[in-house]
Amino acid sequence: MIYTDTRDPSVKVNFKTAVLNGMNAQTGGLYIPVEFPKLPDSLLTRTPEPSFREVAFEMAKPYVKDEIPDNDLEAIIQDCYPFSSQVVPIDQVTYVLELFHGPTCAFKDFGARFMARVMSYFNRGEKDNLHILVATSGDTGSAVGSAFHNVPGIDVTILYPDGKISPLQEKQLSTFTGNVRALKVKGTFDDCQKLVKTAFTDKELRDKFRLSSANSINISRLLPQAFYYTYSSLVVKNRIPHDSKIEDPSIIAVVPSGNFGNLTSGLIAREMGAPIDGFVAATNSNHTIPDWIATGEYKARPSVSTLSNAMDVGAPSNYERIQAMYTLDEVRNLFASYWTDDEGTLSAIKECNDKTGYVIDPHGAVAWKAWNDMRHGEMQKLVDGNGNKDYNKPGLTANIPAWAKKVTESKTAAIILETAHPAKFGATVVKAIGREPSIPDRLEKVLSLPDNAIPMEKDYDSFKKWLLENL
Ligand SMILES: *Cc1c(COP(=O)(O)O)cnc(C)c1O
Repeated sequence: MIYTDTRDPSVKVNFKTAVLNGMNAQTGGLYIPVEFPKLPDSLLTRTPEPSFREVAFEMAKPYVKDEIPDNDLEAIIQDCYPFSSQVVPIDQVTYVLELFHGPTCAFKDFGARFMARVMSYFNRGEKDNLHILVATSGDTGSAVGSAFHNVPGIDVTILYPDGKISPLQEKQLSTFTGNVRALKVKGTFDDCQKLVKTAFTDKELRDKFRLSSANSINISRLLPQAFYYTYSSLVVKNRIPHDSKIEDPSIIAVVPSGNFGNLTSGLIAREMGAPIDGFVAATNSNHTIPDWIATGEYKARPSVSTLSNAMDVGAPSNYERIQAMYTLDEVRNLFASYWTDDEGTLSAIKECNDKTGYVIDPHGAVAWKAWNDMRHGEMQKLVDGNGNKDYNKPGLTANIPAWAKKVTESKTAAIILETAHPAKFGATVVKAIGREPSIPDRLEKVLSLPDNAIPMEKDYDSFKKWLLENL
């Protein structure tokens, strides 16, 4: 597969280069495949649907063709995914896609584990270490740290905003040892991301070290996230005739979003033939993308802290990829967009629990609320021309996607992406429903480990000095 660049379409690199560079230092752009090959019909129409790992293998194949032989790819997939994504119906037309069954209990394990194995595959035989720099708004760092922990020839430096992530998330980050280190930065996630981006364009550093990124800007994290969209949409398509018996249904994916890597992966799955009619871009008070869809103007803004902190992103990196893939009109046809504040998030956790018994985390709750509001009148109002016209107020933005009518006719099933285990946000869940979610063993274990995080100022000079002394 050839990969090009969101800022310069004349760029042509292979998978290995795209993965190891992370982003294109010359242009500041992001790598993107030149095409999204269609999956074979034999895979897409099979009943019962293929397994998650089979979908993963078939989807990854064209993107690594001529660079990773089938046997090796199969071994990588097996090693990445001893766990899977799980589709849990919570009412007749609502399916929660649980993405927290990996080691760090968030969806980022799907991408990080694939990236780590691919990087280590391409790094075989190199004599210098590869240094991974990663900024995290919560879950990226632990997924990446866990995926690379003890991988020879690679070390990882994680930057996270001090005091702006949940205590359990911080425990997961600050307790790594050996080849994985965490810096707690006195600033926001955007400050962390800026430090990483600046380091990548710093010639002195690049000449001295082999640097790579592990943020959702790395294409090897985006591609594997597409696997579970295809897998879950095939599962849901096969279930609809039994669960709700809707004829000619549409299936939409509702995605709680921050940097928009997850949603971009959904777009890739759809391009490859996954039966997904549309997407809901659901955000918290960091509603840069809903505003763009509403007004047509993209304005990055400073991030604000919310209860769904892994989505606290004011300048979403993958906006560039979405824009490289589609025109604004196409986006408005394909996406509904929605945002809610902390109050809405808390009430969503409670309402979801009251109505369905399901305990959802604050990120998934934003998506659930988008879907719940949409199907209970908000989409009808939009279609009737009575929608929320003030995009500074929470709710759906005023564009009407191509699939809107089916929502108003109750002919839509929704896949709600549950991106983290609710136990990672215990305090918020308690506030909403009055009790603690049960905590998985693998999370409980980190609570007793010592904290090794290194304090860091948010200015680039301090960060660079630290890198020069410590890499
Ligand atoms: C990272 C994260 C998100 C946001 O995903 P993006 O790909 O950045 O849009 C949502 N929920 C959780 C729990 C996350 O960790």
